[in-house]
Amino acid sequence: MFEGITKSLGDALKKLRGRGRLTAENVKDGLREVRRAFLEADVNFTVATDFIARVEAKSLGQDVLARVDPSEQIVKNVYEELVALMGPVDHKIPQRADRPVVLMLCGLQGAGKTTTAAKLALTLKGQNRKPMLAAADLQRPGAVEQLRTLGEQIGVPVYSEATNPVDVCRNAVAQAKKTLCDCVILDTAGRLQIDDALMDELKRIDKLVKPDECYLVVDAMIGQEAANVAKTFNDALELNACILTKLDGDARGGAALSIKGVTGVPIKFVGMGEKVDKLEDFVPERMAGRILG
Ligand code: GDP
Repeated sequence: MFEGITKSLGDALKKLRGRGRLTAENVKDGLREVRRAFLEADVNFTVATDFIARVEAKSLGQDVLARVDPSEQIVKNVYEELVALMGPVDHKIPQRADRPVVLMLCGLQGAGKTTTAAKLALTLKGQNRKPMLAAADLQRPGAVEQLRTLGEQIGVPVYSEATNPVDVCRNAVAQAKKTLCDCVILDTAGRLQIDDALMDELKRIDKLVKPDECYLVVDAMIGQEAANVAKTFNDALELNACILTKLDGDARGGAALSIKGVTGVPIKFVGMGEKVDKLEDFVPERMAGRILG
């Protein structure tokens, strides 16, 4: 994961480290290379530019040039700003004593929503909670069946009915209450591209079912486009978090590094494989460490 940016960032920082004393010009040059590494990894232009400006201001403001190890301080600043760029993240999933909590998953088709719904249910089960899955993707052929199969595999009930997405979600919540499930995960429909019909359907569910939290499931392989997708969904639905999938592939880092900067919405979990147990907490410190190699 992120091999390209780790290598080019490593090269940029090695050059800085290779010098004994640094001048302000050296710092600027070094950070320009860091910025190039970001852009090559498909990080959003404004996010990359602002990031470098912050590291530069911090580094020069600390008077790093007078230190014995100026480059180490700059690397530390890059690390700290990377952490700030991606965090903070609260990994808790809300819980209520009086009724099931409703989590709505949304996203483009193929992003990994259905798989992630099951992964999330398994995670909740592991926390001694009692989740239910709601098959509200009535668009993609096979989505309901796919969720049913996944539900069986992980031992989580799946609510479905061949009506319409709003009724599926509403009745799933009622069923969850009746069967004492404490959390309902709504697997909503996606489209290949964002369109008004998709957004209208999601807004209708949002308005009528009032989910406690809404998570965007987004594919890391689409790079910084993930941040644009997140912005559009956030404008329509007020996202609580993103779940970044397919981070086990050869994604370059553009999605992970751009989403929070562009939208203010943090990444909460990451998908690290196709299997149902491949959902992990997104930990900015760990990610920053990995990026810095
Ligand atoms: P949906 O259309 O958004 O519901 O997408 P699906 O859940 O059907 O996922 C689309 C494809 O992506 C499937 O082949 C999944 O197995 C795969 N997928 C989902 N999450 C991940 C992940 O984290 N890593 C990998 N490698 N594949 C994933």
